[in-house]
Amino acid sequence: MNEATPGGLQVARRGAVALLTMDRPPVNGLGAALRLALAQALDEALADPAVRAIVLAGSARAFSGGADVTEFGTPAAAREPRLPTLIGRLEDSPKPVVAAIAGVCLGGGLELAMGCHFRVARSDASLGLPEVKLGLLPGAGGTQRLPRLVGLERALNLIVSGAPAPAASFAGTALVDALVEPSAPGDVVEAAVAFAETVLAEGRAPRRTRALPVEHPQAEAFLQFARHSVAAAAGPFPAPRRCVEAVALSVTRPVDEALRLEREAFLALMATPESRALRHVFAAERAAARLPDLPPDTAPRPIASVAVIGAGTMGGGIAMSFLNAGLPVVLLEQTQAALDRGVATIRRNYESSAKKGKLSAEEMARRLARLTPTLQDEALREVDLVVEAVFEDLGVKEAVFRRLDALCRPGAILATNTSYLDVNRIAAFTTRPADVVGLHFFSPANVMRLLEVVRAAHTAPEVLATSLALARRLGKIAVVAGVCDGFIGNRMLARYGAAAHDLLVAGATPQQVDGALQRFGLAMGPFRMGDLAGLDIGWATRKRRAAEAGVPMRPVIADRLCEAGRFGQKTGAGWYRYEAGRREPLPDPVTEGLIAQFRDEHGVTPRAVSDAEVVERCLYALVNEGARILEEGIAARASDIDLVYLNGYGHPLHRGGPMFHAETVGLPNVVRALRRFAAEPAADPSWTPAPLLLRLAEAGRGFGG
Ligand code: NAD
Repeated sequence: MNEATPGGLQVARRGAVALLTMDRPPVNGLGAALRLALAQALDEALADPAVRAIVLAGSARAFSGGADVTEFGTPAAAREPRLPTLIGRLEDSPKPVVAAIAGVCLGGGLELAMGCHFRVARSDASLGLPEVKLGLLPGAGGTQRLPRLVGLERALNLIVSGAPAPAASFAGTALVDALVEPSAPGDVVEAAVAFAETVLAEGRAPRRTRALPVEHPQAEAFLQFARHSVAAAAGPFPAPRRCVEAVALSVTRPVDEALRLEREAFLALMATPESRALRHVFAAERAAARLPDLPPDTAPRPIASVAVIGAGTMGGGIAMSFLNAGLPVVLLEQTQAALDRGVATIRRNYESSAKKGKLSAEEMARRLARLTPTLQDEALREVDLVVEAVFEDLGVKEAVFRRLDALCRPGAILATNTSYLDVNRIAAFTTRPADVVGLHFFSPANVMRLLEVVRAAHTAPEVLATSLALARRLGKIAVVAGVCDGFIGNRMLARYGAAAHDLLVAGATPQQVDGALQRFGLAMGPFRMGDLAGLDIGWATRKRRAAEAGVPMRPVIADRLCEAGRFGQKTGAGWYRYEAGRREPLPDPVTEGLIAQFRDEHGVTPRAVSDAEVVERCLYALVNEGARILEEGIAARASDIDLVYLNGYGHPLHRGGPMFHAETVGLPNVVRALRRFAAEPAADPSWTPAPLLLRLAEAGRGFGG
C-alpha cells in the first residue's frame, strides 16, 4: 500500500507500522490541506486493526518548516483541523506515534513532532521555535511541551531567542529518543520504523508529552529572573515577554488551561502592530529578491574578482564588503597618499574588529591578502566587476567610465556608487550601456545591509540578476530602483529633510525634532545625522546644483551654520555643539540664535510644535514622495521602499518602514494630514497628496506590498 493524498501526504505500510510521509515541497508547510490529510490518515490508521504503530516523517530536507506563513490571517488558517487540534489528536492516539525528523523541524513543525510520543532524529536536523522572530509565540503547544521535554530553562532560552539548534545538542533529553548519524547506513525513516517496532515488542505505552512533569528545582526564582532580563532586552516588542509568560504557565497552571491561555496569547500577538510589521518585513525581503519583469531563468554572470575605484569613505567600505565575502579586490587610487590613507583605514577597521574579538588574526590576514592596492589602471583588465566610488562629479565619472570602457574585458560589469547622478548618462559614456548598473552602497559600506541596485535604461537582465546574487553573497539586502535624482532613498530623504527644516522655521528646536523622531524609534534624528555626516557635503551639493541650474540657492538654515564654519562633529559644532573627544550632541544657543534670525528674516512668529506633529510631517513627507516613486515605477513595490528605510536609514523594525506605517495609520488619515499641510500659507507644493495615495485612500486600499 502506498498512496498519495491530495494534501501532500504519502501513506504506506511497513508491517504493523503505518508510515505517513509529508510531501509538500519545499518545507512541508502545515497549510490547511496537509493538516486535513494528516488528520484523515491518522483516523484511518487508528481504525485499521492491522496498524499497531504510526511513524510520521517528512523529506530529507524538511520534517516541516512549520505553519504556512502565507496562510496567516486568512480563513484557511482557521480551518479545522487547526494545528493545535491536530497535535492534540496525534498525542491522544492509543497507538504509539514516532516522529522521524531530518532537515528543518521548526515552529509548528517542531510542535507537531512534540505531539508525537517518541522522536528519532538525524543528528544534524535543525530544531527550533522561531515564532518570536515574527513577533509571535509558538501557539500550538510549543510553550507547554518543550519545557516538559528539555527542561524549563533550555525551553525558555530556545523560545525567547527563536534560534534553532542541531538535534545532536538535545541528546539525553526526551526531545530526541534516538539520534541517527548522517553517515549511518539507512535513513532516519528506517530507524524510526525500527524504533516503533521495538516500542511494540516491548509493549511500551504511548508517552504523552503533556503528561510529563516540568523539571526545574527553583522554577519560580528562575522565571522571575527571566522576566527581568527579557523585559530589559525586548525593546518595543511584546512577544519575548509574552513568551516568558506562556512558558511560566507550564509550571503554574494545569496543562489544558495553559494550552488555552497560550493560544489566546498567540492570537493577541498576531493582532499587534509589531508582529504585523515583522511579518511584513519577512515577506518584503522575499519579494525584493524577485524582479517582476526579470525572466526567472536569467543566469547571473560569475563574479570571481572585483575592482573598486577610489579608496575614500565609500571605496574603502565597499572593498571591505567584498574582502569579507572572500573576493579578491583591486583597489585603484589616483595618488599614493590617497591609496595609503585608504588602505590604512581598512587595516585599522580590521584591527579594531580583531581587538574586540570579532575577527581572528588569521582571518584578518587572509582578508588583507586578498587586497591589491594599486595606482595602475592596467590592473582592471581582467576583473569581472568594477565599482566606481570617486568624487560625486559627472566630469570625473565621465573620465573614469571612458577609461573603463577602453580597458575592461567584454562582459565585465561596470557599476557606479553615485548617490544622485544620472546612471543613464554615466552608461552613455561607454560603448556598452547594457553592462552598466548603479550599485549604491550606504555608509559605512561594510556594515550597512542595504544595497540600492540602480537599473538604467539599458542595463541587461543578467547584470541585474548578478547584482542581486552579489548582494546575497555580501550578506546585503538588494532593492532595485529606477533612475531619478537620488533613487529611492535619497530622493525621499530630500523631502524628509525639508520637512524637518520647516519645523525649525515654524518654532521647533533641532533637539526637539530629533527627540520626537528618536522616540518614534529612529536610530538618529535628521539633525544629529547631519552633524555626523558633515553639513559641508549638502552645502557643496546645494551650491553646485544652483550653479548648474543657473538659479539662486533656496535659503536654508544649514547654509548659515556652514558659513559660520559649523560642519558638524568634525568641527566640534554643527546643529549641536560637541565637547572635545565626545560625540554627545549638546544643544547650542548659537544654533538657536541662527534659527531665530532666519525666522525674523522670513517674517515667521515661532509657534509651539508637538512631538506628534514632528512625526507626522517628517514621516508623511517620506510617504508622499514614496507614493510618487511607486507611481513612476522607480520602486517596484511599497515594501521595497520600506526595506530601503529599514536597512539604509535607521528606521525602526517594529514600525515596518514608512509605507507600512502609513497603512497602519490608515491612508485616508495620511491624506487628510497632507491636505492640511498643503493648505497652509506658502506651503511647499510637495505636500500635495500624490495621485496614487489619493486613489488608494479613496478606494479603501493599501499599497499592496
Ligand atoms: P571621498 O571623497 O571620500 O572618496 C573619493 C575618492 O576617490 C578619493 O579618495 C579620491 O582620491 C578618489 N578618486 C577621485 N578620482 C579618482 C580617479 N579618477 N581614480 C581613482 N580614484 C579617484 O568620497 P566618498 O564619500 O567615498 O564618495 C564616493 C562616491 O560614493 C560618490 O559618488 C558619492 O556620491 C557616493 N556615495 C557616498 C556616500 C557617503 O555617505 N559618503 C554614500 C553613498 C554613496
